[in-house]
Amino acid sequence: MPEGHTIHRLARDLQRTLGGAPVRATSPQGRFAEGADRLDGHPLVAAEAWGKYLFCDVGTGDVLHVHLGLIGKFRRRPSPPPDPVGAVRLRLEGDAATWDLSGPTRCELVTVDEQVAIVARLGADPLRRDADVDATRERFVRSGRPVGAYLLDQSVIAGIGNVYRAEILFLCGIHPTRPARSLSEEEFDQLWSTTVEQLRLGVRMGRIVTTDPDEIGRPRSRMRSEDRLYVYHRDHCRRCGTELEVIPMGGRPIWCCPVCQPA
Ligand SMILES: [Zn+2]
Repeated sequence: MPEGHTIHRLARDLQRTLGGAPVRATSPQGRFAEGADRLDGHPLVAAEAWGKYLFCDVGTGDVLHVHLGLIGKFRRRPSPPPDPVGAVRLRLEGDAATWDLSGPTRCELVTVDEQVAIVARLGADPLRRDADVDATRERFVRSGRPVGAYLLDQSVIAGIGNVYRAEILFLCGIHPTRPARSLSEEEFDQLWSTTVEQLRLGVRMGRIVTTDPDEIGRPRSRMRSEDRLYVYHRDHCRRCGTELEVIPMGGRPIWCCPVCQPA
């Protein structure tokens, strides 16, 4: 599933390529024909992400709300575009680029008030400048839930998915079974700053790379895929070689190193 960095990068790219001039909107697959009609001919005024949620405001009172879910994709095509491939729910065609949306969990028009209500149910997004760190810290202090499960809860922190939660806890040396409230203030602050740093790096790279280039001996852009992560979906810790623990948590497995992340 795309994590927050993908959606923020997407919002930035949509804004850059579709902002300012009228956009032609169609639903080649037909399932979003009415919505596409309402978007058609309006410029994209603002595209923004909150966690894994994307909002595109066209300035008419309609906001396009997209959640990619597990298999959804927004693919960039040249303009004028080639024929759509597969079931394209929405095609946004600008002068500089065309974007094809397929397989989203959500693709709908909402009002600005509805956007506010959706965002109100989400936690702080570490990639946003308006992220409320203090409120997030307060929630950690009050929660007995395992931190590994807590990090996946989008109503606590929005934008972390299964890859980042495993990698961030590894980078901070925190075992995922520890209750959120057992983290010291320093540990929480390190967890937050590591999250911000890693997600920003993800936006810049367009992929998740958490390993230290000095440790791997190559720059991030030239790392082999098996060297980009410390623990996620691995058998052994990329740092110390210890066999990893795999624990079901928050509905998905999490990988952790018993040496680098003492329980
Ligand atoms: Zn280790």
